[in-house]
Amino acid sequence: MNKVRKLKATKIFDGRKFLYDKILCIDETATVVDIIADNNERDLEIFQGILAPGLINCHCHLELSHLKSAIKEKTGLVDFLIEVMQLRAFDKQQILQSIERAEREMYSNGIVAVGDICNTTDTLLQKRKGNILYRNFLETMGFLPNAAESRFEYTLQNVCKVFSAENLTTSIVPHAPYSVSKDLLGLINEHSKGKIITIHNQETEQENKFFQAGESEFQKLYQFLKTDISFYQPSGKNSLPTYLPNLDLPAKILLVHNTATSEDDILFAEKVAKTNGQEIFWVLCPNANLYIENSLPQINLLRKHHCKIALGTDSLASNHQLSILSEVQTIQKYFPEIPQDELLQWATLNGSEALGFSDSLGSFEKGKKPGTVLLDENLKTIKRIE
Ligand SMILES: [Zn+2]
Repeated sequence: MNKVRKLKATKIFDGRKFLYDKILCIDETATVVDIIADNNERDLEIFQGILAPGLINCHCHLELSHLKSAIKEKTGLVDFLIEVMQLRAFDKQQILQSIERAEREMYSNGIVAVGDICNTTDTLLQKRKGNILYRNFLETMGFLPNAAESRFEYTLQNVCKVFSAENLTTSIVPHAPYSVSKDLLGLINEHSKGKIITIHNQETEQENKFFQAGESEFQKLYQFLKTDISFYQPSGKNSLPTYLPNLDLPAKILLVHNTATSEDDILFAEKVAKTNGQEIFWVLCPNANLYIENSLPQINLLRKHHCKIALGTDSLASNHQLSILSEVQTIQKYFPEIPQDELLQWATLNGSEALGFSDSLGSFEKGKKPGTVLLDENLKTIKRIE
């Protein structure tokens, strides 16, 4: 029979709530055997702080890790995107080393699963190692309607098939509302029946302006790309109510950033999802929002409407570290009223549900293998126990 480790700490966070005077029992494979009351149990391993399941990062771009500290802060999204595109040509070896280093950083920061945006297959070598579980979101973009089929086909043939051949998870996803034509969104939708997809949503107020009236900084982006968008007709609405009804087939949609999402947009999204039998997850990446736009989403509105919130780091191009705990700390700083257990649920169970990994990750429940981390009681430090 397997030897069972009995772990006790100041308190245990089980994925939903804090437990006191309980013992977490895990076997040699780190699978949860039970959570039991402490009736003078013997052979305990005792820790100071909080035992919690491994953390889940719902939004990253591991392949951009070489851009750490390369891009100026607080310039706004359009200038940020232009800089990223200008910096794409990098030495391959440097890219691969940065990917390896960044994954190691996530691992030591207690992250056990990642929703990772991929435009290339650069991360494949690292993902083969199986250190962290990935939901691979293969990103496509193209604003010209007549390029929709070629763009979709490119991602399908050159990225999706390569990942699938290695039995890695794949969904083809749109980059953002302002970078995907309705036709391309239609192709993605047809390919996504019952799947999990994600989209960068309302990362800047400029995005809403682009959909409301057409005049916005995105004109500058398309000038940079030398793309004639004179055909474009704004919808007169915010971006979310414009595009979301075109994504009625995925089972789950992870809306990432949401810094310029209004209360009406939140209600609209939740209503559309309910009608379509879908689940919406609101993925927050506060450190990246401060880095790029120096703004934060209206988290209290999401809480008011009982939205499912999960957390992401975004990439090292727009963050100083890949740490979900650091995202939690930033939210605590700006929203001190949010209770610790609620924040930890966003970082664990909600993230595992968003990525479709809640069968094995996100909470201490019998039979799951969620990883075990130790946090101090002020959520300042983290280390892996398993
Ligand atoms: Zn992103």
